[in-house]
Amino acid sequence: HLDHTGALPYLIRPENGKRWYATQTTKMLAEKLLYSTSSILRSKGITKKNASPFQKVFLNNSNLINLFNEFNPLKINKTVEVSPGFKVTPYSASHLYGSVSYKIDVFGTTILFTGDFSADESELFSGAKLPTDCDVTIFDGTYYNRETVEEDPNTVILQAAETCDRLIIPAFSVGRTQEMIKRLERLRVSAKRRVMTTGLAADVSKSMGLRAKFDIVKNLSADNFENSDIVVTGHGMLQGGTARKLIDETSSDENTGILICGYQAPNTLGFALKNSHSIAKKRYHQNIFSAHISGHSSSESLNEFIDKLSGKKVMVHTPDRTVPREEHKGLIIPKYNQEIVLKNKV
Ligand SMILES: [Zn+2]
Repeated sequence: HLDHTGALPYLIRPENGKRWYATQTTKMLAEKLLYSTSSILRSKGITKKNASPFQKVFLNNSNLINLFNEFNPLKINKTVEVSPGFKVTPYSASHLYGSVSYKIDVFGTTILFTGDFSADESELFSGAKLPTDCDVTIFDGTYYNRETVEEDPNTVILQAAETCDRLIIPAFSVGRTQEMIKRLERLRVSAKRRVMTTGLAADVSKSMGLRAKFDIVKNLSADNFENSDIVVTGHGMLQGGTARKLIDETSSDENTGILICGYQAPNTLGFALKNSHSIAKKRYHQNIFSAHISGHSSSESLNEFIDKLSGKKVMVHTPDRTVPREEHKGLIIPKYNQEIVLKNKV
C-alpha cells in the first residue's frame, strides 16, 4: 500500500544511485499506485513550482522511470545477500498481494521485520506463518488489545445487500476491493445482484487475475448506477474517487446503502459516517453499515504470535498509550522517535 511504498521515489533517485528490492507483485502494484499518485497530483493543479520536495519527485517522470529500473526482484522464502554479511529472506505476510515480512541476518544477528501482516485466514490468503526464533522481532500490532466487538462481517454484508436497492462499498483499490468481491461471491450475493468495480480497483482486480464474478464499469455515475447494483471501489475512506462521487450524487436517497469496511482514519468522511457524526448524517441520508474486515492480525492471533516469540519483541503500529498486557512481559512498544537498542555490542 502507499503508506509503505509512497516514499520510494523520494528514496531512490537518479542522483543517489540507490537500488531497491521487492517481490515482482509489489513492484507491479507500486507502479500502478505511484503513477496514479502522480496523476492525482497533476489533476489537483500541483506543478513543479508549487510542489513540496516530497511531491516534486512524483512530477518528474524520469524519476519514476529510474525507480523502476533500479528494482531487484525477491522471491518468497529465497534468501538474498544484499551486501556482504547482510542477508534477507522474504516470507509471505498475507496482508496484500505480494506483501512480505523480512527476516534479516546482519552478521549472524537475526531480525524479523513483519511490516503489515495478518496471521488470520482471509478470502485471499491463508494467514502468515512467520519464523518466531529471531533475536529481535519488530512487528505490526495494529489490533493489539482491540478485541473485535463488532458483528460478524458476513452478517452485516448480507444485511446490507438485503435491505438496500443500490449499495456502495468504499474499499482500498488494492486488497480490500478484491477481498470484498470474493466475499460477495461466496455469500452468493453476486448470484442475485450485479457486482461492479471501477478505476484503479478494477485495474488491480484484473491484473491480479481475480477469480470471481464482477463487471468492470467505466465512468460510473448516479445515472447508470441502477437499482440492485453493488459497486466496490476506491477511495476506501471516502476522501475522493468514484465511491465519494457516487455517495455525493445519491446523498438524498435513503434506499441506497453505504457499507464501510474496516478501519477509517479520523477526519475522513468514512470515519464520520461510520461514527454517525451529526454533520455527516444531515448531508448523507443513505443507509450506513459497517463491517470489520482487515488485512492485519486480530487481537487474538497477535497474542498467540507474541507468546511464540523467543527473542526481543518490539511492537509498532499501535495506537498511542497502548500498554502491554501483563502476560507480555518484556514487550517493547516504542514511542514516536524513541531509540531502541536491538543488540548490545559484545
Ligand atoms: Zn497495507
